[in-house]
Amino acid sequence: MQKIKNYINGALVDPKAGLYIDNYNPANGKVYSLIPDSDTDDVQMAVGAAKAAFSTWAATPKEKRARIMLKISDLIEKNLDRLALAESIDNGKPLSLAKTVDIPRAAANFHFYATGILHFSSEAHSMEGSAINYTLRDAVGVAGCISPWNLPLYLFTWKIAPAIAAGCTVVAKPSEITPMTAFLLSEICIEAGLPAGVLNIVHGYGHKVGAAITVHPDVPLISFTGGTKTGAEIARVAAPMFKKLSLELGGKNPNIIFADCDFEKAVKTTLQSSFANQGQICLCGSRIYIERSIYEKFKTEFAERTKKLLTVGNPLDEKTKIGAVVSKSHMEKILSCIETAKQEGGKILCGGNQVKLEGDFKDGYYIAPTIIEGLPNDCKTNKEEIFGPVVTIMPFDSEQEVLQYANSTNYGLASIVWTENLTKAHRVAEKIHAGIVWINCWLLRDLRTPFGGVKGSGVGREGGFEAFQFFTEPKNVCIKLN
Ligand code: NDP
Repeated sequence: MQKIKNYINGALVDPKAGLYIDNYNPANGKVYSLIPDSDTDDVQMAVGAAKAAFSTWAATPKEKRARIMLKISDLIEKNLDRLALAESIDNGKPLSLAKTVDIPRAAANFHFYATGILHFSSEAHSMEGSAINYTLRDAVGVAGCISPWNLPLYLFTWKIAPAIAAGCTVVAKPSEITPMTAFLLSEICIEAGLPAGVLNIVHGYGHKVGAAITVHPDVPLISFTGGTKTGAEIARVAAPMFKKLSLELGGKNPNIIFADCDFEKAVKTTLQSSFANQGQICLCGSRIYIERSIYEKFKTEFAERTKKLLTVGNPLDEKTKIGAVVSKSHMEKILSCIETAKQEGGKILCGGNQVKLEGDFKDGYYIAPTIIEGLPNDCKTNKEEIFGPVVTIMPFDSEQEVLQYANSTNYGLASIVWTENLTKAHRVAEKIHAGIVWINCWLLRDLRTPFGGVKGSGVGREGGFEAFQFFTEPKNVCIKLN
């Protein structure tokens, strides 16, 4: 059975203690590879390598850093099929999604930040002839990058690429639930000639590897994407050490459908924004609010198309729209959330159950896409993130009412608004408390824009030049002119 290795100081190495964790294929519930069960010793080696590489990498001309990163981007593109297959097997997502979204986006992340760093400049301020102030921006040092399992390579590279472009060196930990693409990325980095120690990837559990990175005194910066509870734990440890922190956390995103929307586009995109990647995207719209005059029509159409079009099946089959959820424990958590919704008075319009496939896939972790109606806005189901193929729908009567619903959770990551009324679209967007508002679309984003959430969805911003500001430290110089 394949054994994944850590990537430390430019080499692929076994975990020091020689321990491994089973890696399950969620499509069939079988163990198909082994992941290093690394510990503080492995993290110590990785941090040591990153620290030793830092001054040289930070002083490497940006053009040279960019050239290596562009090579990594090209190699990701060249290996698209292999990476997509690995991601689909690791994660349970449809292969088509990995091929068209996750892997191309990972290549784009390296490409975007490789070229972006060439145009990143710092500011200067003139004080009316008496002094000039300018701001130097130096790479912070060793960056700790910790990412989740839902978009494994996409989110992993979203952190690593700006960090190394800015001149930081990195100790990164992918989720132990989906480690394979991170392992393949180590091979790609070696092939691309990334100098030893610039990127180090340590596999293993969050409470061991993630915690050891977070608490390490030689890691002054943590970029974390994951659950809100884990984010709070990281903040608790890192804040007293005065580390720079970027926390990209959970969401419970509203999808607001006004009666004057383009009905066809709204239904079609809502199928995706509700159930893409089995609903396991932090940006999915899981609370769907529909203006009362089109509620019945929208509900009927949405539920019928969900049943008809969103076939649950083997992720590697081209016809599959909904693959497996990521793990057995996650499947059980989602099913228990559906039970809670029923106890709260929710009526299941479609789905609501585990799907048992046949043959090789009989032990896989499948859940039918689920639509629930009839719940009050303030129940647990409408407040807490489920992170699966489960959405609630409810009618609203006025803009004011739906804004109150939209802003009523502890999260504020993303939101979606459907209306053809331009003035209303801008007015509603301005009043929604979230990091991003999509109007008449979903998951479309220029990488130059800042990305992140408010409230329990996190602090700090990634994306665009905001990421370079995060991975560098400003130093102001003030020169008196007379
Ligand atoms: P977790 O918070 O459980 O884990 C995220 C990462 O943190 C994993 O690598 C995990 O390792 C690690 N980790 C766990 N405990 C610690 C610790 N004490 N110290 C340091 N690291 C630790 O999230 P999930 O992997 O379950 O991902 C799903 C969550 O991520 C959802 O809430 C989702 O909304 C959110 N998310 C947010 C995004 C955003 O941009 N805002 C984007 C994508 C997802 P291990 O896997 O071993 O536990």
